[in-house]
Parts: sequence; C-alpha cells; structure tokens
Amino acid sequence: MRFLDTILDIIFPVKCILCGQTGIDLCLKCLKDVPGAERESAKWIFPIYDYRHPAIKKSLWLLKYKGKKRLAKIFAEIIYEKILEEFSELSVLQNFTEPILIPVPLSSKRYQERGYNQAQLICQEIIKINSLREKIDMQLENNILIKIKETEHQARIKNRNERLKNLIGSFAVKNSELIKNRNIILIDDITTTGATLTEAKKVLKQADARKVIAFTVAH
Ligand SMILES: [Zn+2]
Repeated sequence: MRFLDTILDIIFPVKCILCGQTGIDLCLKCLKDVPGAERESAKWIFPIYDYRHPAIKKSLWLLKYKGKKRLAKIFAEIIYEKILEEFSELSVLQNFTEPILIPVPLSSKRYQERGYNQAQLICQEIIKINSLREKIDMQLENNILIKIKETEHQARIKNRNERLKNLIGSFAVKNSELIKNRNIILIDDITTTGATLTEAKKVLKQADARKVIAFTVAH
C-alpha cells in the first residue's frame, strides 16, 4: 500500500487543497490564517478551529465525503498538540491519566456508504503520532461506543433541544468493562451545538466511565 502511495504521489503530486502548494494536503500557511473556535462550547469540549472559515469547511468536507483521508493526519497533529496542552494540567489536577481515545461512531449503514469514519481516521493518526513521541499512556478503542440508530442529519435540525432529542438512544456501549473508571477522550470532526458529544458522554458515563472530555477539529 505504501508502495502504491509512492507511485501515486509521483503521478499526482500532493498539493495543498487551498493554495496548490506541493508537498502537503493542507499547508501550514493556509492553516495559519484560520481563526480559532471562539464561540462558546461546553467546558469539557475543546474545538480547535472556527468552522465558518472556508479552509476548514472545505477540508472537512473533503475528508468526510470525498475520501481525502490524508487530511486526517494533518488534523490529528493539530488535535494532538491541543491534547498535550490540556493533558498536562488535567492529569495533575483531575487525575486524568491513561485515557482511552474513542471516535464518535457512525451508524453501520452510514459507515458502509462512506467506507470509513473520519473521526476514527483522526484517532488512528493521533495514536501513531503518540507512539512516536510517547507523551501519553493512551490507547484507541474503536468498538466501545457504537451508533445503533440511524438518525436524521443533525445539520438539518436547527434547535439544540431538538438535536438532543433526535440523538436519544442512538449510541450504545459495548464491552463496558473496558471503560469502567477510565478517562475518555472523545474525538469528532465537528461540533455544532454539542448535542452529539453530550449524548455520547451520557452513554459513556452510564457505563461508569470516569471523566469524559472531547476534542474536535472545528466548532
Ligand atoms: Zn496552502
């Protein structure tokens, strides 16, 4: 697979999706201009970028719907830095240690349509980065939080309460013994009203998870 990637890179050189600079899918120069997420979100949710910026809108759309999976690596690096930043304090003050990384899941129907879960790709890249840098004792669990109910696209529902209602009963926890008293880091690409993350957290807490926090690329 890596060999094939190399061949493909020669035929179709990697280019920044925004400015066209070669060598990277989304260049640092373009990302530098993106404003941080400033709109209010819950204290346990840490979004990185402002979703309204076209660079983020476009790159997340490409990652999610157009199979531009390599973008996951770029966002993983950014989220990883943010995790490190928060982790040093949380581990000391709140005993937030040995976290389990959990991607917000897709329903199996949507997973089959898309062929991958962008949040899971980001998690896999975070684990790779962490294994090189060995900063945090952290593991990835893809099969604990599952989406058992197909829900209407949250983007089509404007009201936060309606969004929360739409999600009730949509997540379940498998192998709950693995998260009992454990700290959890949830990862998703976008949070809007926080309804999805709130419902996911609720289900994890019901399964006796200790502390749950979340990181997203954008808000
Ligand atoms: Zn660029």
